[in-house]
Parts: sequence; C-alpha cells; structure tokens
Amino acid sequence: MTPRLRPDLDDLPVYVPGKTYPGAIKLASNEVTFGPLPSVASAIADAVSSINRYPDNAMVELTEALAKKLGVTSTEVQVGCGSVTLCQNLITVTCRPGDEVLFGWRSFETYPIATRIAGATPVQIPLDDGLGYDLPAMAKAVTDKTRLVFICNPNNPTGTVVSRDDLVAFLRAVPDDLVVALDEAYIEYTRLGAAQDYDALELRREFPNLVVLRTFSKAYGLAGLRVGYAVADPAVITALGKAHIPFSINTLAQRAAVACLAADDELLARTDAVVTERVRVTAQLRTLGYRVPESQANFVWLDLGSEALPFAQASTEAGVIVRPFDGDGVRVTVTEVDENDAFLAFAADWARRRG
Ligand code: PMP
Repeated sequence: MTPRLRPDLDDLPVYVPGKTYPGAIKLASNEVTFGPLPSVASAIADAVSSINRYPDNAMVELTEALAKKLGVTSTEVQVGCGSVTLCQNLITVTCRPGDEVLFGWRSFETYPIATRIAGATPVQIPLDDGLGYDLPAMAKAVTDKTRLVFICNPNNPTGTVVSRDDLVAFLRAVPDDLVVALDEAYIEYTRLGAAQDYDALELRREFPNLVVLRTFSKAYGLAGLRVGYAVADPAVITALGKAHIPFSINTLAQRAAVACLAADDELLARTDAVVTERVRVTAQLRTLGYRVPESQANFVWLDLGSEALPFAQASTEAGVIVRPFDGDGVRVTVTEVDENDAFLAFAADWARRRG
C-alpha cells in the first residue's frame, strides 16, 4: 500500500538545518553565541513551576508589552511560534491554491516551501546585481493572482537591505490591498545611518497593507524558545489569530520574551559588537579576494558560485560550520572575535590554496 499523499509535494525538498558536532564553531544559523542574560534566565527558571498548566493562548502579557514598546495597539500585534510560523500563517490567510506569492530570490527558504505546502505558486524574482531585492522588477511581476509579497530586509542570506525610497515606490506601485510582509528578522543589526534610516512601523501608518515580521530568535538570543511577532492592520492580525495553532507559544517562551523586553538595552548593546565585527570580517574577506556584498545583518555572504559546497565542506572539516547554498554562495554568521578569526583563518587558507 502506498499512502495517498499530495503528488505536487513529491519534489519539495525537506528543510535540513545545519548539523553540528562537539567542539565545532557553528556559524551556520545566524544565532548569537552567548546565553541569556541573568534576568532572562531567571524568568525562564521561575516559569518552570507552572508548566503543568497550558500557556496563555492569548499571550496577553507579551502582546501588551510588545505593543507598548512598539507604540502600537495590542490589536496590531500577533505573537507566533517563531516568525517562520507567521510567514506560513500569512500565506494561509491570504492564499488559496493557485494564488501567487511574490518574493526575491535567493532569499529565506521558507517562502517557497510554505507557499507550495499551501498549494499556492511561488513567484521568485532574481536579486539585482548588488544581490539585493529588485523591487522595480517585483512591482512589474504583480498579477491579479498575487496575494502576498515577502520582502526580506535585511535579506537572508545576502544581508542586503532595500532603501526607503525603493520600498515606498514599490508600495505606491502595487494595489493598496495587497499584503506586503517586510521580514525584519535581523533588523536589530541594521545601521543605515541617519540619512537613509527608516522605521517600517512608521511606514505602516501610510501603508496599512504593510506587515512587519520580527523575531526573538536572533538579536535577543531566544532561538531555542521559538517566539516571533507580526505587527499589522487589526484585520490581518484577526486573520492570523484564526490560523494560530492553539497554545503553540509555550509558557517559558512567553516569560522569556517579556523579560527580554525589560532588558532591551542590555541585549541590544550586544548587536553593536557584532556590527563592528561585521565591518572587520567583510573588509578582510574582500582583501582576500572574496566578493562580499555589504551586509546589514549578523552574517555575511560569500558569492562563491560552484565553489560553495567544497568551500563549506572544507570549512566544516577545519572546525567551522558555515551554510552553503549549492552553486550559489556561502552564508557565515558573524559572532565574537575568536570565532570570526577562526573562520577568517580558514578563508585565508582557502584563498591561498586556490591561488
Ligand atoms: N525570517 C528570516 C529571514 C529568517 O532568516 C528566519 C530564521 N532563519 C526567520 C524568519 C524565522 O525565524 P524564527 O522562526 O526563529 O523566528
């Protein structure tokens, strides 16, 4: 007996996260190296005594704390089991089979996978020459079947960002009822400078179809607890609430995220150190001859083409696990000086060997 499954998913790849081994330096998943702040760790420890009860399904305390911090109302916030779940749920609430989801490519792998799981059609617009989202080309690709747009900003895996002008031009060019999700998983690492800086939450006032997705997994260091959030028009939030899997944000995760918000400054100060390292790592890699676009995230992209897989394999053997994208490039997390130096030593060695 062959179980009757959906044949259109036969060729869909299974998501395989980077593997690690004892003693290896893991620079493959854009995590932070340090553990939680003491205040966050003790909030988690305190919450353990109540895990015999279901978590708060409405996530009231966390939702209110987020709304207060972000200057929005609670009706504009939906917490999710990682922002990856919110990406999926956005597809669920906007698309029916045959509808189109538009995004740049290469970008976050969940977009095409979750789109296909929903029976919708991914429409992938190649990145521009600078390996950033080509928003003018994307605006032209909108059809009457387009139901959702993802703009990954900074883009995973290239680290590039879209400018305010390009984003506004895009939002003006597309129908004002088309849901446009700005995936800001790495936004806490972005330093654009006063002239170009913009706040997507402000832009939402002019463009209510804009959805902002963020996460506690990256700069806040809670990857293992799975908490993300969406800020959007109350109508979108209501729809996301319907797709929310009951009790999927566990008690420890909710309490830890609330504690993170109370220690915001301390946690985010750590991003400055990563930004300093990002500048150093990028400069050194370029000196070694690698093509590395300007990154505004906690990772850098090495545009290696067919060398990507052998490079990553050799790096793993040398004790530094990085993330290859076959035939395209390698993404390397920027963390602390020692770990970055270990990777740079390998990269220098590889550059020497290839001549
Ligand atoms: N968006 C982007 C661009 C990401 O890179 C990731 C994590 N790899 C996510 C969303 C999801 O993060 P999480 O589910 O851990 O919140």
